[in-house]
Amino acid sequence: MDDVIAAVATAWGEGGIAIVRLSGEGCISLLDRLFVPSRPPHSLAQSPARTLRHGHLHAAPHDRSPIDEVLAVRFSTQSYTGEESAEVHCHGGIVPAQRCLEALFSLGVRAALAGEFTRRAFTNGRIDLPQAEAVLGVIRAKSAGALAAGTRALQGELSARVKKNLENLTLLAARAEVLLDFPEEDDESQLASQLAPQLAAARDGLAETLRACEHGLTLRNGLSVALAGAPNVGKSSLLNALLGEERAIVTPIPGTTRDCLEGLFIHKGVPVRLFDTAGLRDTRDPVERIGVDRARRALLEADVKVWIVDAHEPLGEELPMHFLGKAFCPSMIVLNKTDLPARVAPEQLAALAPDVPAYSVSALERQGLETLKDAFLTFFCASSPTGIASVADEAYAATARQIECLKRSLESIDTAHEALEGNLGDDVAASMLAEARAALAELLGLDATESMLDELFGSFCVGK
Ligand code: GDP
Repeated sequence: MDDVIAAVATAWGEGGIAIVRLSGEGCISLLDRLFVPSRPPHSLAQSPARTLRHGHLHAAPHDRSPIDEVLAVRFSTQSYTGEESAEVHCHGGIVPAQRCLEALFSLGVRAALAGEFTRRAFTNGRIDLPQAEAVLGVIRAKSAGALAAGTRALQGELSARVKKNLENLTLLAARAEVLLDFPEEDDESQLASQLAPQLAAARDGLAETLRACEHGLTLRNGLSVALAGAPNVGKSSLLNALLGEERAIVTPIPGTTRDCLEGLFIHKGVPVRLFDTAGLRDTRDPVERIGVDRARRALLEADVKVWIVDAHEPLGEELPMHFLGKAFCPSMIVLNKTDLPARVAPEQLAALAPDVPAYSVSALERQGLETLKDAFLTFFCASSPTGIASVADEAYAATARQIECLKRSLESIDTAHEALEGNLGDDVAASMLAEARAALAELLGLDATESMLDELFGSFCVGK
């Protein structure tokens, strides 16, 4: 049986109310020793569940002067944690909440660990692991899209989808086993052809789940967009113009931005994290060289790699391939300073980088910025058939852990497919299918270990 735990569930600080949450069998009778309702019935235990009662909380049983005027409520097993729970709503502020907690601790209640309420909800079977993880997605959502993706996962839609994927793989593995045990004639290649359609369908279903999760992760963390280019092409000006604030220092002196600057804006419900990087040029200045290295790294790691070109300067050696190798391909080229007489034509860029879309803007005159913001999102939605609308409607607030499990499962399916096609052995295919299923079971937390749960819930805040 779990002991009784308590914590402040609202943010520490000044506010209208603070909520102290209790959970564990016996917590209501413990609270009743300190809570005095204003009207009958004279205890919380006798009060109906899920009904707020007005009263006072005292520092100790039979203490005369109360700590605070409060509202209290009890829950039976239909609670957040799935076990007997209660809440005390005291006045917002650190001291009332702290004193309520101390009074409870003096009766033997234990301080809850980070994420312990949600962990209990998981261990009591009220929610599964993806739902527990979705709680953080909801709390930390920075845009309406991220919140919707969190709510969907919290309602169990992601779990249902992964369970369906797992079910498909289990059926597939069962069918493979039957075919292996009772091969029709002695034609081994039949196994591959008989399983191929089912394998492809299972793969497609899983790939779709992965895509919805990756979109959800981007909605949660923000789409990273790196602005790069030679010094003075207008990277800082563009960052400021896109953010609508003067974040970066803008000067006509080349090499001013030596470190990466970051800014966030929300476009059509998607958080976009913009990085202004040091101008990429060959330099002897050691400080600038560190900045150039960081810029290179930021550019390589960003979801959208924007290469900016000054439309007013003849095109020199400043195309990104010069610094990042011939294999590097930017996501898009932005021709800035189009308010000045053109010395670079869009056709010139198209000839140099034929498959890279180019956009014309003027950071100074704020021209072309909405089209550019839309272009960032187009990149984000590239794999989605109906663009941003369907991304927002289908994404799940997934975690890096869940995405790693999905990718591992997909890789195992691909290896199983190769094994069947190349006649590498049915055993290999069977064990790969087992691994694909194990990765999904891990995602769902079907055999989660204590240390894994410690790590996962440790990232929650206390009181959640
Ligand atoms: P960075 O070194 O690439 O970050 O470039 P900055 O943003 O510091 O800009 C370098 C110079 O170009 C500054 O004098 C800016 O005012 C100017 N500049 C930036 N964008 C534009 C633009 O769209 N039009 C014009 N005319 N000047 C610009």
